[in-house]
Amino acid sequence: MRIIADLQIHSRYSRACSQDLIPKNIAAWADRKGIGIVGTGDFTHPKWNRELQDALEEAKPGLYRLRGKSARAYFMLTGEVSNIYKQGDKVRRVHNMIFAPDFAAADRIIAGLEKRGANLKSDGRPIMGIHCDDLVKIVKQADGRAEVIPAHAWTPHFGLFGSLSGFDSIQEAFLDQAKYIFAIETGLSSDPKMNWQISMLDSISLISNSDAHSLRKLGREANVFEVDPEKLSYDEIIRIIRNKDPKEFLFTIEFYPEEGKYHLDGHRDCKFSCTPEQTEKNGGICPVCGKKLLVGVLSRVSNLADRQWGFMPPRAVPFKNAIPLEEIIADTLEVGAGSKKVQALYQKLTDQEPEFEILLDVPQEEIEKLGNPEIAAAVIRVREGSVRVEGGYDGVFGKIHIFDGSERDKIFRKPKQMGLF
Ligand SMILES: [Zn+2]
Ligand SMILES: [Zn+2]
Repeated sequence: MRIIADLQIHSRYSRACSQDLIPKNIAAWADRKGIGIVGTGDFTHPKWNRELQDALEEAKPGLYRLRGKSARAYFMLTGEVSNIYKQGDKVRRVHNMIFAPDFAAADRIIAGLEKRGANLKSDGRPIMGIHCDDLVKIVKQADGRAEVIPAHAWTPHFGLFGSLSGFDSIQEAFLDQAKYIFAIETGLSSDPKMNWQISMLDSISLISNSDAHSLRKLGREANVFEVDPEKLSYDEIIRIIRNKDPKEFLFTIEFYPEEGKYHLDGHRDCKFSCTPEQTEKNGGICPVCGKKLLVGVLSRVSNLADRQWGFMPPRAVPFKNAIPLEEIIADTLEVGAGSKKVQALYQKLTDQEPEFEILLDVPQEEIEKLGNPEIAAAVIRVREGSVRVEGGYDGVFGKIHIFDGSERDKIFRKPKQMGLF
């Protein structure tokens, strides 16, 4: 059975997150999107942890469902913490995910973190002075089956490899605990192909999650597994991620990395962005304001790369680029993604088929029947990868263009609308 997993999201107790992020809504939206396993996010937060325990019951070992079985999606206990501390002469800021096999293990992890002074009430994604290697020790001591996985490893501000406050290798950050780090999350601004340029990551599994701060963003990145339904459990999901056998870890679903908000180098306030080559030519300086550019993910990857672009390591898990259906609809109709028109059509389509089925599998003629021919054509374009993306930078999301102006006219303008003809 194919199952899509989005293992990193946030709850309403994390900064800048929607109040709608409650278990019932998350489960309903996971079903609408076609996500089979969704991370709970934020399990270290006492109030959220209580809400989860009240709302969920164990359905498979280590996987939970809404009580009363009103939704299909399973929940897995996941959270994210922000480790901020000084190592060497640099302040390090690293976001790490924690996966827990059950509520009892989660409680022991919470106790371990609190014993080390972490204030878990402060936020769904709490800040703590605990070093990365100590975090692994605390988590592994609490439960050998719990795992630590660096989140969005390349983002400049909080990524393990981030340009501002990160490290140059997993070993540098996790020291003697590096042996427990078997996966990293590539984040929205990088995709596996970029990571394949770095040979030190060959043994590491590359996973992708939404890091959603609202319901609509669930599943914007995800992992696709082939799982024996009889064996479905927390342990089986961890085993499949760890083994990264493409027969079981089928592929990841990725944003176009250019669309991520830290892909290129640049300055938001100066409305300036550039490629790593241009940055080098400019000596790392912004030509608008004369200050140092914010170095994005593409630059950072090429700094650490020891291989050519395009190299695919043996046993690598493949990936597919996807664009969220709402964005496809918005670009096709040339209206804002938050507009009523887009939301109505999104609702209509996903009432009939889950979003991921539409994005990945449903044939063009069927999508035409579910919605309309323009959306069907756009979905196929995205599947084929023939879209144009303007790179994001310094917190500004990239922009997607599925159809360019003249092309749009050719494809969409109906004969009767063509004036003289
Ligand atoms: Zn984070
Ligand atoms: Zn500038």
